[in-house]
This record gives sequence, C-alpha cells and structure tokens, in this order.
Amino acid sequence: MSAHFIKESDFKAFVSALIKAKPVYGPTAKRSKFVFSRLESPEQLRLDYDVTLLPPKKLFFPTSQDLVRFDGDKFEACVQPEEKILFGVHFYDVKALDMTDLLFREKNPDWNYLAHRECTTLVASSIQAVAPRAFWGSVGREVQPKGHDAFLTKIQGGFVYEPRTPKGEALLKHGAFGKASDEQVAEARKANDDIKKRCPQELKKPSASIARKVRAAFDDETLWDKLAEDCFSCGSCNTVCPTCYCFDVQDVWNVDQKSGARTRTWDACLTREFAEVSLGAGAHENFRESRGERFRHRIMRKAVYLNEKLGGPACVGCGRCSSACTSDIADPVRVIEQIVKA
Ligand code: SF4
Ligand code: SF4
Repeated sequence: MSAHFIKESDFKAFVSALIKAKPVYGPTAKRSKFVFSRLESPEQLRLDYDVTLLPPKKLFFPTSQDLVRFDGDKFEACVQPEEKILFGVHFYDVKALDMTDLLFREKNPDWNYLAHRECTTLVASSIQAVAPRAFWGSVGREVQPKGHDAFLTKIQGGFVYEPRTPKGEALLKHGAFGKASDEQVAEARKANDDIKKRCPQELKKPSASIARKVRAAFDDETLWDKLAEDCFSCGSCNTVCPTCYCFDVQDVWNVDQKSGARTRTWDACLTREFAEVSLGAGAHENFRESRGERFRHRIMRKAVYLNEKLGGPACVGCGRCSSACTSDIADPVRVIEQIVKA
C-alpha cells in the first residue's frame, strides 16, 4: 500500500474527524506521566509521549472484566466490543499486542479479548521521546511489529501515513492527505531507524544467546535468591508489563445469593498467592514458595519459555517494569547482565 503525507497544519483536523467518526483512544498526559485514554479533542493527543503507565492491552483485556452474568440458571455473555480507533501506539507495544493476540488465539480462542481486538483500528506511531529505562532498540530484533493497520511517522512539516490493511486505508478519507514523496518516505525510515540508537539501555547479546545463558542458570538457587533479595512480591513488574497476560477468574455473587457475575482480573506471578493451590480440607500448597523461585519464573517467561512460540523473547524493552519496581531490581537488562556474568 502506498505512503501518504499530511501537513502538520492539517493534522488536528484529521484527528478531529476521527473523533467524530468513532471513539478514539490515544496517549494523553496525566500529571507528569502518560496514559492511553479516550480523546475528547485533538489537543489531548500527545504523540510526543515517551511511554504510558499501563500498556494499551488494557483496552482489549481490561484490569477487571465481567465474562458472564448469571441469575439463577440463566446466563448471559458480556462481550460488548466497541468499534474504535487506537491511535499512537509505539512499535514495542504493537509487538506486545501481536504476541498477546497469538497467545489468546491459540488452542481455546479467548473471544472476550479477540472480539475487542478485532473491532479496533490500530494506528502505530513513531517514537519522538525515549523513556529513561527503555531498551526496545536492542531486544528481540528478530521480531517485527505487525499487528497494526497503519504506521504514522513524524517528519519535517508533517506526518507520513503508511496503511498496512484496508482498515488503515479507510482512515485516509478523514484527512487532507496527499501522496508521500520518495524523500518523505526515506526521511520516515531514517527517523524510525535512528531513534532505535537512542535507548539509554542496551542488551549486548542476541536473544538466542541470552536464552541459553538464562536457561543454564535455572538451578542456581543462590543466584535467584540474591537477585530477588529485595523483592516485595508486589507484582507491579507484572501489572505494567505489556506481554504479561495471566488472569484470575472468580464468581462474584450479589446479596440475593442467586445472581452475580463471573469476573476476571489481572493476576501477577510475582505475588505470593499466585502459585498457591488448595489441597482440600483447609490444606494448601505453594509451588513457588520463595521470592527467588517467583523472580526466576518471570525472567524465564520473558527470556526463555515463550521464545519458540513467539519467534523471540516475551519482552519488548519498554522499561515499564524497571520504572515501576520500588526496589529497582526488576530491570531485565540488569538482571540478564548479572546472570550472564555469574
Ligand atoms: S519485562 Fe519489563 S521491559 Fe520487558 S516488556 Fe515487560 S515491562 Fe517491558
Ligand atoms: S516490582 Fe520489584 S519488588 Fe515488586 S514484585 Fe516486581 S521485582 Fe518484586
């Protein structure tokens, strides 16, 4: 599909027209940070954001979501997908969404997630500001972002808009687009290549080599206990991660004890209760009892276990976990450096 150009002076009118056509979600400022939220006006859109507090997966896989409502023996599914546009997603979050799509589609497809995902037009955008703990320039280079419908790149005087799908192309009618010149397309390519060299952190080794080293360290309990020594088991590193997708399902009953909802909420494997199971008669067992075991599990999931299925690590280098960790021990770059030199 061919590339298009829109002048900076025409861009607000384009976003305004999108907002009139459908609900549009994009990066907006929240005090000194950024969040994905519904846009009421084009002025709220902050394409100069570095990273959002939570990843955009929350729009398809909310922190808490009713799956089924019941009343006696009557059941009603609660999937109410909304046609929407998700605008301004950085390429690392596009990669993460693509991984989540695959994981929710395999075996028993998760229709609650997929229905929300499929009725969304996803517009990726170039990165204009780099988050302080980001390392997306060096992690999983073998995995290309591909779940988006269009890619928007800021260049001198405007934006290059490259549709990838008919859904992405359908948005062109809302703006004063012209054909992008070869020079403008080349400038966009250069901007997207150059920004990858500006990450403050870098993984020095390729994913396959890291995976081998991390796997080889599995039985080194002293190392894992040391890495997790200051862990509060709070689960923040899981909660902010765009590639974490574990959830808990509970039936929440109304006071009539007849009706209620089956609800799912995000879960976190770093919390103590995550791996606790009932053995009946009041007994229970925790199959990842120590902080070291839980810390190891997270790093194995990110660097080793899913690599074959995803074609690369289950980490996209957003740096959210590093910023969210009170003890500052969750940073995958530092953890991997310590494992490699152990
Ligand atoms: S592990 Fe950390 S850096 Fe990697 S994707 Fe998750 S939050 Fe981002
Ligand atoms: S955010 Fe830090 S302290 Fe909290 S569970 Fe993760 S590693 Fe442990």
